[in-house]
Amino acid sequence: MLPRLRRLSVATTVSDDGAGAARQRRAQRGLSRLLVRDVRALRRLIVPSRLQATVPSWIEAVRALVGEYGSASASAAADFYDAERVAARVTGRFTVPMLDPPPDEQVDSALRWATKDLWPRNPEDPKTTVVQKRPIEERLDAAEKKAEAVVQKLVTDRGRGTIQEAVRRDRMAVGFARAAALGACAFCRLLAARGMVYKQDTADFRAHDGCNCGVIPVFKGQRFELSPHAQEWDRLYREYAAPYPGDQLRRFRRAIAEHG
Ligand SMILES: [Zn+2]
Repeated sequence: MLPRLRRLSVATTVSDDGAGAARQRRAQRGLSRLLVRDVRALRRLIVPSRLQATVPSWIEAVRALVGEYGSASASAAADFYDAERVAARVTGRFTVPMLDPPPDEQVDSALRWATKDLWPRNPEDPKTTVVQKRPIEERLDAAEKKAEAVVQKLVTDRGRGTIQEAVRRDRMAVGFARAAALGACAFCRLLAARGMVYKQDTADFRAHDGCNCGVIPVFKGQRFELSPHAQEWDRLYREYAAPYPGDQLRRFRRAIAEHG
């Protein structure tokens, strides 16, 4: 009798700059672009002479967009996770749990924050900000920009959160890495340079408004490889920030500016 053939297991590699990561970033950026376009179209709902009545309906309409686009973000993330799992040749089935939308209160307070300078203020009041003294059209522009940034984060976070939650629950996932774009800010580059973090050591993924960083799952038997650009960030960090006391992020930021 022939011995049972053991399945040859060849370690696959995964990187913060692999084809999957790039596709995922394109998908999330594409959603962000459409989201911003739709949010802009809602601006006409705000009538400057009737802020009291119109801002709440604008908030409601934007919140609905955050829900829709957030679901699309979560399902794009789930597709990405499934594809990465297949590429890693992981055995056993797993269904990616989709992250729930953020609570209405969270979305509303982000949007109230974005629009707070729209409200008329007495110019003599010392608490009146520079922005609040500008004409309403300018204040609307500023509010619009802020709103775009906060909704982009809420929507992209839903995709990122879906991958993180999948990594936590999937017994075949060991951890995740951060994929930062070449032009990402120093904060994101520094975190990306750390490479893979084991799931038991991971805290919540920290992102800022306008952050396009992705979450890359790493599975059992896979080898994680830092991309050449993240290796370079790691080198800059080790050379110019890590050995010195004080604010490491500030040192790293300066290292990027001077040697990056
Ligand atoms: Zn980022």
